[in-house]
Amino acid sequence: MFDRQCLLENGRNKMIVVPLGIASATPTAVRHLPAVALWREGSVFLFDCGENAQMSMLQAGLKRSKIDAIFISHFDVDHYSGLMGLLSTLQLQRRDRELTIAGPKGIKEFIEWNLNFSGVELGFAINYSEVEEGEEVTRVIDEEDYYVEARPLKHRRFCLGFRFQEKDKPGKVDSEKAEKFGITEDQQFKDLKAGKNIKLADGTEIEAYEIVGHPRPGDSFAYVSDTEYCPNAVKLAMNTNILYHEATFGNQLADKAKETGHSTAGDAARVATEAQTKLLVIGHFSARYTNLHVLLKEARDGFYPTWLANELRPIFTDPTHERGIIKPKVEIKDLTKSSSSSDGRPSHSSGRRDSRGQSRGGKNFRPRRGGSGGGNYRSDNRGGGNYSRDNRGGGGGYRNNRYNSGGGDRNRDDRYNNRGGGERRSYGSSSYNRDRNDDHESQPKKTITPRTSYDDFDRF
Ligand SMILES: [Zn+2]
Repeated sequence: MFDRQCLLENGRNKMIVVPLGIASATPTAVRHLPAVALWREGSVFLFDCGENAQMSMLQAGLKRSKIDAIFISHFDVDHYSGLMGLLSTLQLQRRDRELTIAGPKGIKEFIEWNLNFSGVELGFAINYSEVEEGEEVTRVIDEEDYYVEARPLKHRRFCLGFRFQEKDKPGKVDSEKAEKFGITEDQQFKDLKAGKNIKLADGTEIEAYEIVGHPRPGDSFAYVSDTEYCPNAVKLAMNTNILYHEATFGNQLADKAKETGHSTAGDAARVATEAQTKLLVIGHFSARYTNLHVLLKEARDGFYPTWLANELRPIFTDPTHERGIIKPKVEIKDLTKSSSSSDGRPSHSSGRRDSRGQSRGGKNFRPRRGGSGGGNYRSDNRGGGNYSRDNRGGGGGYRNNRYNSGGGDRNRDDRYNNRGGGERRSYGSSSYNRDRNDDHESQPKKTITPRTSYDDFDRF
């Protein structure tokens, strides 16, 4: 369960990236058109707005009214087909707050023509930030504590990549020292944080560095889609916490990628390596890949800290922050302790696992959904469609793994191993199975709820 209060208290200044659509060109039954949300301090920033983006936001628990800015990379229809629908929703919600929309030149004309065509007069102002071809780098937003810059990528048509960068934050105030010096007034703290020296009542001058630590670097996120490999992608992604990069094709289809102005998984890994990003998340998958682990493997061959984007699954810029914010809903037995007992042995071949859609292929999922009716499926899996999207996208066992691995004492490396990684997936699933099998053997019933990304963060 997502603990909102905890997030507000501890999650300040942290960013959360939520892929909303990870398909390219055409949606599939389980993947939607491109859109990625960035949550930061209660505000939402939307990168591309494919059809279904606003519904996915609802499912993710991201409030559409909280959108501060929308960034459109280019005018291939799949990347902006959800825009007018979203604007209409904002209008119907009686939004009155200004909205920033950034994109290639023409975005303003497109929106105004559409509004005019439908005779809609918006109740809120749109602040357009248009980028013309030929501009090397443009700051499309520049706020007090963050900015967003755009650079042209290399696609068949003019296409922009974006980087969201928090500005450096002031260092932490050493409160013990401050007390010793007798600093009490708010204004004095403010001045010190701003790097100014202050004078106490007795005339003593205190220099800022005596009380305030080093400035802390801000978090950053780069959104790179659609493009062939290009140096601007590297510039956008340089030292970011998270790079979201398209990987439409596998390395085998490198020719096709070049022909259509897209990247392979290997290209994405190359950009991540050159940019020394901390985490690469690949998305924008061609519909031909039903098993995305092919792409994950190829990307990891070049850049190990890579995850598959999973629709609706949140990614924290600072993973240590997940602890305390996402709380396990159920107690799950420690596998390391019970693995020696015979009844506790994970049953890897269980058909039940398959029927729940946790197996690698989606084959078993369809008949079940059709056969047992939507209501049943939904109550069973709690996220309904989300659940299937989650698992089909790969790495479905991540959530189980997290809590099975005991105590939630994960470090960043753990995350890399678990998230998006198919290797350990059956491990998590089978522990779930074991509990189910226990039921069969009339042992005391465990209360266990299958976890989905929907459970995790539907409250912010
Ligand atoms: Zn695209």
